[in-house]
Parts: sequence; C-alpha cells; structure tokens
Amino acid sequence: MTLHKGTCHCGGVGVAYETAVPPADTPVRACQCSFCRMHGALAVSDPKGSLEFTENRAGALRCYRFALGTADFILCGICGAYLGAILNDEAGGGYGIVNIRVLDEPDAFIRAPEPSVYDAENESERIARRCQNWTPVTRTVGSA
Ligand SMILES: [Zn+2]
Repeated sequence: MTLHKGTCHCGGVGVAYETAVPPADTPVRACQCSFCRMHGALAVSDPKGSLEFTENRAGALRCYRFALGTADFILCGICGAYLGAILNDEAGGGYGIVNIRVLDEPDAFIRAPEPSVYDAENESERIARRCQNWTPVTRTVGSA
C-alpha cells in the first residue's frame, strides 16, 4: 500500500489516500457535473484502499451537498479548496473519493482523465455505483 497525502491550499484540511494501485495505473475521472468542472476536479478511488479526511484547523472542514444530495463534498472553509467527497450517512456513508488536485504529488497520476457523466442515474443507482467503486473512508475528523 502507498500513502498519498495532501492538504487544501491553506493546510486547514488534510487528506490521506492509501492504495496498492500505482498512480500510473490509476484511472482518473473528470466528472462533468457543474461543481467538478468549476473546480477542475479530478477524482480517483480504490475499493480496496482507504481514505481519511482530517481537520487540522478548527472549523476548516466544511461539507456541501447539492443535486441529489447523496454525497458530502469536502471543502476547506478557509481557502475554499475542494478535497473530495464521501457518501452522506443516510446514503450509506463510509465511501469516498479524493480530488488528486490537492495531493502532494498530483503529477504522479499520469493517465489521461476520462470525462464522466452521471446525469442519467437515479438516486439508488448513484449510491450503488459509489458503494462499489469508491474508497472505504476510515475516518473523517471534524466533519459537521
Ligand atoms: Zn484551506
């Protein structure tokens, strides 16, 4: 397993993504929803890996929900960076993605981003896909 660490721009929120899949072999998804396009977000996940978000400064970790509201998008409330997302508790919780833009070594993920469009999914399809493809979240410290 390799640990990929990262933080938001100001360091207020940290992320740790552990996976056995080498970055060079990791599929990179460019979600085409309006939020991810606005942030230029690139998502990765590994169902056999682990993911952890930590709040390094009190009050920094903020959650944002939109559209179907099935996931909490993890933002830094100080610098505004988007770090990743986790399924909300009602949707099953416990699974997440990381935005490689906030990792210490984003350039290690060299595969061409694949545009991903999920508009046709209904709520249950969306939750099922995430439970299958997203990374188990071991701990989220300080989430509201
Ligand atoms: Zn920040």
